[in-house]
Amino acid sequence: MGRALIIGAGGVASVVVHKCCQNAEVFEEICIASRTKSKCDALKAKLDGGKTKITTAQVDADKVEELISLINEYQPDIVINVALPYQDLTIMDACLATKTHYLDTANYEPEDTAKFEYSWQWAYRERFEQAGITAVLGCGFDPGVTGVFSAYAAKHYFDEIHEIDILDCNGGDHGYPFATNFNPEINIREVSANGSYWENGRWVETEPMEIKKVYNFDQVGEKDMYLLHHEELESLALNIKGIKRIRFFMTFGQSYLTHLKCLENVGMTSIEPIEFEGKQIVPLQFLKAVLPDPSTLGPRTVGKTNIGCIFKGLKDGQEKTYYVYNICDHQECFKEVGSQAISYTTGVPAMIGAMMVMNGTWKNPGVYNVEEFDPDPFMDALNQWGLPWKEDFNPVLVD
Ligand code: NDP
Repeated sequence: MGRALIIGAGGVASVVVHKCCQNAEVFEEICIASRTKSKCDALKAKLDGGKTKITTAQVDADKVEELISLINEYQPDIVINVALPYQDLTIMDACLATKTHYLDTANYEPEDTAKFEYSWQWAYRERFEQAGITAVLGCGFDPGVTGVFSAYAAKHYFDEIHEIDILDCNGGDHGYPFATNFNPEINIREVSANGSYWENGRWVETEPMEIKKVYNFDQVGEKDMYLLHHEELESLALNIKGIKRIRFFMTFGQSYLTHLKCLENVGMTSIEPIEFEGKQIVPLQFLKAVLPDPSTLGPRTVGKTNIGCIFKGLKDGQEKTYYVYNICDHQECFKEVGSQAISYTTGVPAMIGAMMVMNGTWKNPGVYNVEEFDPDPFMDALNQWGLPWKEDFNPVLVD
């Protein structure tokens, strides 16, 4: 069917590349382009020989001109951005200049401010409309599948959704005292920020990790989970009409939290540059360099993830609850694509979203969050491509 340019060659990109190669009817050709070309070449070496034709390229995605010439040369139907959130706007600029569809898995965040929100990317809406191209924002698992689940619940099960609790549980164990499951810099920025949730038309802010709940997850068991701010809260608050409250909870083990607190206390999670031996360094970037690379966690991680959404609302005048979730096994993912489940649950939806745009199912000019599209074909594709979902019509609610 067509050709995709994949930017980034880290943990998530590796899964995207594997899944595109499994889906060669749609992804006839892919180009893997990243800052460090050797990582792209290593991915190509693993997967070459199948039906999908793979090429690689070096690109600094902070530089719009470099991106434009790569896109002009390769002529992709879509750019799949699985680099870092810092590159979202430069890649969107290049897509605009070349009239190429765009998809990412995380919203823009300036490198020097730990603040992420959609406003920067939503500001491209009219320009994408005028250029006749589609941007799909936040098409990983959360954000991503959580938005698709919300659209699916709204379409099939509710007249009004009043409350959504998104529960992200990682019951995996990698054996390290402290490591992050995706890019450490982005992950630590996210979890050390203040928490917040949406209630009755306004944001309620909390201290980091202030709100803790315990939940018994199917196939994982009982876990502590903490309320975090998360980017899909912002788009769902706008797109799910009549919503009164949305919260996001993520599970953390005690060892992770103790290490994080200690690292914070000694200043290692700061993004303020400091002078060290005559050089400016950012403590968090230094920390990233000494922590295990998430893409190496695959072989050592055992256990399962369970990520989903609990909805509360009305159907035919009656109160109704509904829980939809996916369970993913770290070792099964590793067997299939050589990655742990966090990268897998992000990379599979990115491939599916790109397929939806390429085959015309999700192709409206403009900039969209996933819950703005028809969820049904995406839900079918989740079952087909490795992330089957389960439903519970009488779930235990989070108090
Ligand atoms: P990694 O750090 O493993 O990979 C990032 C890749 O981007 C690396 O290959 C890196 O290159 C490349 N890169 C960084 N800067 C540039 C640049 N200027 N130009 C070109 N390439 C660059 O991250 P992950 O794979 O773990 O995460 C990828 C994305 O997925 C992130 O945006 C993350 O927030 C998102 N994510 C989304 C989730 C969801 O559910 N929605 C969940 C998990 C992650 P180099 O090798 O040279 O460093």
